[in-house]
Amino acid sequence: MATYEFKSESKRMLDLMINSIYTHKEIFLREIISNASDALDKLYYKSLSDDTIDFDREKFYIRITPDKDTRTITVSDGGIGMTKEELEENLGTIAKSGSFAFKSENEKCDDVDIIGQFGVGFYSAFMVAKSVTVISRKFGSDEAFKWFSEGADGYDVEPCSKETAGTDIIISLKDNTDEENYDQYLEEYTIRNLIRKYSDYIKYPIKMMVTRQKLKEVPEEEKKEDAKPEYESYTEDDVLNSMVPLWRRNKSELTDEDYNSFYKEKFMDYENPLKTIHTSADGMLSYNALLFIPSHPPFDYYTKDFKKGLALYTNGVMIMDKCEDLLPDYFGFVRGLVDSADLSLNISREILQHDRQLKTIAAHLKKKIKSELLNMQKNDRETYEKFYESFKRPLKFGVYDNYGAEKDFLCDLIMFYSSTEKKPVTLAEYVDRMKEDQDAIYYASGETVEQIDKQPRCESIKDKGFEVLYLTEDVDEFALKVLGKYKDKEFKSVASADLNLEDETAKAEEAVAEETSKDLFAAMKEALGERVVNVKPTTRLKNHPVCITSEGEVSLEMEKILGQMPNGGVKAQRVLEINIKHPLFEKLKTAQDDKDKLKKLTEVLYGCALLAEGMNVENSAEFADSVCDLI
Ligand code: ADP
Repeated sequence: MATYEFKSESKRMLDLMINSIYTHKEIFLREIISNASDALDKLYYKSLSDDTIDFDREKFYIRITPDKDTRTITVSDGGIGMTKEELEENLGTIAKSGSFAFKSENEKCDDVDIIGQFGVGFYSAFMVAKSVTVISRKFGSDEAFKWFSEGADGYDVEPCSKETAGTDIIISLKDNTDEENYDQYLEEYTIRNLIRKYSDYIKYPIKMMVTRQKLKEVPEEEKKEDAKPEYESYTEDDVLNSMVPLWRRNKSELTDEDYNSFYKEKFMDYENPLKTIHTSADGMLSYNALLFIPSHPPFDYYTKDFKKGLALYTNGVMIMDKCEDLLPDYFGFVRGLVDSADLSLNISREILQHDRQLKTIAAHLKKKIKSELLNMQKNDRETYEKFYESFKRPLKFGVYDNYGAEKDFLCDLIMFYSSTEKKPVTLAEYVDRMKEDQDAIYYASGETVEQIDKQPRCESIKDKGFEVLYLTEDVDEFALKVLGKYKDKEFKSVASADLNLEDETAKAEEAVAEETSKDLFAAMKEALGERVVNVKPTTRLKNHPVCITSEGEVSLEMEKILGQMPNGGVKAQRVLEINIKHPLFEKLKTAQDDKDKLKKLTEVLYGCALLAEGMNVENSAEFADSVCDLI
């Protein structure tokens, strides 16, 4: 039975650890190593103000010693150490720990998340340990003490001997179970990987004795012809961490190759990034950020499994793999990391403050990413086009999302295929090219560029020399609707029934036709019933006899998309427009008295209009019958 009991809060935390089903138990090593690094820091700071401390850089390191025979892993440091009282105070109580305070305020939140994101310090050792021994000697003291605990029962402290100041944490691993192989933490390979993953940038060397093989040396005279080479093993001290993070190194020291290989290794991509952004801030809130724009979307980018986010480091220790709050959804494709020393205190002590700081960093980064992209758009158009091809969807969704909250921020990044330039263009470029007598930004929607190119209703606008933007993705028209205007120019669909592009003579001609053939149009409208809101004369077409347009907010393409949504079914207000310069118009007039024939002609023309725009004929059977009858 242990002599001392843990304080009640600690007991709860310990229970949580001992019975943890947390899948990332491996983080215990990160926690113990970070404590060792802190202890070295404390001694280092002390040495700054105390001349009697003989500061020897060589002594500032952390050692990992796995032992397969005893199934222990020991983490040793030559840091500040702990007195008997400190052992009891620091390791017997956890009430001071920020993550714990956070937990008790947020009882409902998942234990698992807290462990993963903020760590739980020393106690996390109990996720893998059946017992933990701490041997510590305070710097400047000649006494050493041993703290020992098997978990929730409590702990013992007794005097012991230790040669030098510092602390050894000896973790005696739990027995393996069917689900969990604790022996893995004794393997060089696992330890190496864990240190690379979580503690690579701890600023003190993390050393481990490793066993290697070498060719056995055979004296010249004993050498035999065709003897097989013999190997012998030897041990060697190895440093497992790289210590200085790439992003903390001077930009001028780094080459593209450094960045690219870092990116490829860290984010497991086979291709170099399209763009690297290495930025830092000093002052109230200082941080380093290293961001990458991939050259292609990650394989799961367009699935619901995709998780955006940047890795978050504090003082070189990774505390979060993917911090979602650092990236808006529309820049979710950006990979990278943020390292801020200023977060370290707050992240475990005061969650609110930490939140605010993250928000500040996120806001800086968002602007930085945008300005780098605009830069690329201006100075390296080819790369921007490649980028845009991969990531146009999230950007356009970003415009549309949240009722357009970010539309002004994003509108300069989006592009659409242009009828005149035959490639994607920005809205700014479009507006710059607008004709003097042009007062709107015209767009046409359809399945593909080729299909839109053939749409009858685009004809007259293209004839006037106006540029038309081709919208081929479902989100496009919605994004433009939310955007409303760009540089005070309204967006107008070429399929809108009230384009108002006709000159005075054309208008007059339309008015005359409207008046003289009033009965004809009324009869045609009646034949089509609810399917159209109007049948009217037009001069906007050249070679085509008819076209379909729509009145109001919902276009035909939007109707198609809305129709696929669970509670969809919003209808476009369709208008059938008849080309009064086309011979067919005369034919219609002559059929006016034969009600049945007119109905069939109308049916066929309506169907043709839909087909020509690349849409489906709704009453396909009726359409086919009418065609046959007329033939
Ligand atoms: P935190 O590190 O968040 O304060 P921990 O539970 O990890 O919480 O550790 C509690 C305390 O124990 C530390 O604040 C430190 O004072 C002490 N401690 C832990 N490990 C060491 C060590 N290797 N050397 C000296 N002190 C240590």
